[in-house]
Amino acid sequence: MGATIEALHNLQEIEIQIADIQRGIDRKKRVCEKREKTIADLESKIEKLERDKHSKQKEADRLQLEVRSHDDHITKLRESLNTAKNQKEYSSVLTELNTFKADNSKTEEQVLNYLGEIDELNKQVADIQNEIEAEKSKLVENEQAAKEAEDKASNRLNKLRSEREAATEGIPPELIDMFTRVASKNDGEAMAMIMRTHPRRQEYACEGCNMAITIEQVNNVLSRDEAVLCNVCGRILYAETATAS
Ligand SMILES: [Zn+2]
Repeated sequence: MGATIEALHNLQEIEIQIADIQRGIDRKKRVCEKREKTIADLESKIEKLERDKHSKQKEADRLQLEVRSHDDHITKLRESLNTAKNQKEYSSVLTELNTFKADNSKTEEQVLNYLGEIDELNKQVADIQNEIEAEKSKLVENEQAAKEAEDKASNRLNKLRSEREAATEGIPPELIDMFTRVASKNDGEAMAMIMRTHPRRQEYACEGCNMAITIEQVNNVLSRDEAVLCNVCGRILYAETATAS
């Protein structure tokens, strides 16, 4: 291995440890994010139920007003019934009165239905609110766990980061940029070993993605101290001495 590639290889050892620790922390953070999302979803469910409730309440209020004004009208009709001048007038008022009374009892039934539905919605809202409370207290625990993990890892991470800093010395900056880019895509694994896939034939593959590598690439890795990338996964290829044989 050329000096530059060897330096990158050292960097990779450190990078993988950093990525491992970071992954553990990220996992815990993702648990929190997922729970926050669950809470937000439940809250928007409540909003929807409240809107539903509001429109039902409005409709029930409107119908109640209607019943009240019909009641007034019914009272008037009853008075007219008493002052009816003849049989014909009496029976026409009576018909109107009965129609109004029938309408009113239908409307009152509708109001009762709405009120029943509103009760049901209130129950649903209360259930969801309980769920939200439970999720929130779990979130507090998750956040604590995430913070503890982060605190616990911080010394080790700082140490590794300064080791990483030291390990980049002597490596051309553009190579470090490339390394960092590939590493971030592959959990710290910016490099992949060349594997010989056939004992007798000159056939090779990238350890990172298992795809074939040309002999020309292998020769470049062996003869030059520069980054040769896997065509498929983009990792920086390196060879163990055994590959050369
Ligand atoms: Zn590859």
